[in-house]
Amino acid sequence: MNETLLYGREIILPKREIAHLDKEKIRINECIQQKNKILYCARCNQKVSVCLPCEICEKNCFYCTHCIDMGKMCECCCLCSINEPFPQKRTVHFEWRGVLSNEQERGSIQIIQAIQNRANLLISAVTGAGKTEMIFKGLHYALEQGYRVCVAAPRIDVCLELAPRIQAVFPNEPIIVLHGNTTEKYKYTKLVIATTHQLLKFKEAFDVLVIDEVDAFPFQHNDSLQKRVDIVVKQEHSLIFLTATPSLEQQRAIKKGELNCVDIPVRYHGFALPIPKFVYIGDWKNNITKKQLCTKLIKYINGSIKKQRKLLIFLPHIHLMQQLEQQLRQRLPKHIQFASVHAQDNERLEKVQAMRNQNYHFLLTTTILERGVTFSNIDVIVLGSEDRIFSTAALVQIAGRVGRKCDYPTGDVWFLHYGKTKAMISARNWIVKMNTLALKRGLIQ
Ligand SMILES: [Zn+2]
Ligand SMILES: [Zn+2]
Repeated sequence: MNETLLYGREIILPKREIAHLDKEKIRINECIQQKNKILYCARCNQKVSVCLPCEICEKNCFYCTHCIDMGKMCECCCLCSINEPFPQKRTVHFEWRGVLSNEQERGSIQIIQAIQNRANLLISAVTGAGKTEMIFKGLHYALEQGYRVCVAAPRIDVCLELAPRIQAVFPNEPIIVLHGNTTEKYKYTKLVIATTHQLLKFKEAFDVLVIDEVDAFPFQHNDSLQKRVDIVVKQEHSLIFLTATPSLEQQRAIKKGELNCVDIPVRYHGFALPIPKFVYIGDWKNNITKKQLCTKLIKYINGSIKKQRKLLIFLPHIHLMQQLEQQLRQRLPKHIQFASVHAQDNERLEKVQAMRNQNYHFLLTTTILERGVTFSNIDVIVLGSEDRIFSTAALVQIAGRVGRKCDYPTGDVWFLHYGKTKAMISARNWIVKMNTLALKRGLIQ
């Protein structure tokens, strides 16, 4: 086996096959461990209670059902990995000719310093601040030190968006992109782009770990993923978190001085964030079922069309979205182009591209488009913004889809609701707070 495949990465081997391995060099850990008479999984840290006949040891064998999609962890197997050799300085070609705004520059410098000092840093930057560009120089510095670097994000879409942008900046650097649907075979690279879920396979692997969109599902509320962060970095390391809405835990750590934070309250183009407007629309679910919702909604759709803007309409549930789509097809004139999109939609990528190309007047969507996408010249409606799926972070992100481009820096955001929620109010308060901060610092007019 190629040794580099084990650098900072755990592979599963049957116990009977590890006898000949060099125990000095290879770190070996039992897959299923015992603590206070309770069995738990060494990879995902969850309790193990299922015991079934095993195809490896041909006996009854305990195994973990929680992380089985990443390879079966059973009692008769071990996790093996090797520490990567000490970093060697090298030259890395850097192909980026962009210009950073003053605020982006400030973030970029702090990231480089954090990496130099082996320190942790949180970048709290509003939607459309241009976070990705802020990390390029830091990545370049780290790679030239010979460090191994991972850029992780909770969602596949965000990883797929990041990968080509980062590859373009480091055209000669081999990159591996890891996510649940990947068909690419794993190879050792100094630069890794991965979903946070894929971090479960690494151990003491990275000198620098950047986690983008830390506020997103499934990372935010997943303990085993959050604990994993400390396991996948080397002893000396730098953790860089990027978010538009720091969690309460992070805000507390910042206040106590345990976590350094750079806050960037302004977009790269210097325009204020659009503030969501709340509109009460009553029992909209019932109105969809009774086919009575269209009239109200068509007013908004026509409003955007009149202003020659495109429109994204977010809904909390697929089946209601599909009912509404059918009703709109019956009610709207034929020349109005639109579609709906959700996570399991086979034409998802094509539809998002068609929206980017301005081929639709509007697009109905679930929360899959809440982040990681930029459309030019759009307004946004959240239909049923009171639904619990719309957390504060999600609503801030959704509102943040509007006005991202220099040519179209403004637009409208409507939360159409059946009763205001805490999440709606705190999302609006957060946005107002960021604008006020930017104004105070003289960053917007
Ligand atoms: Zn497990
Ligand atoms: Zn077994």
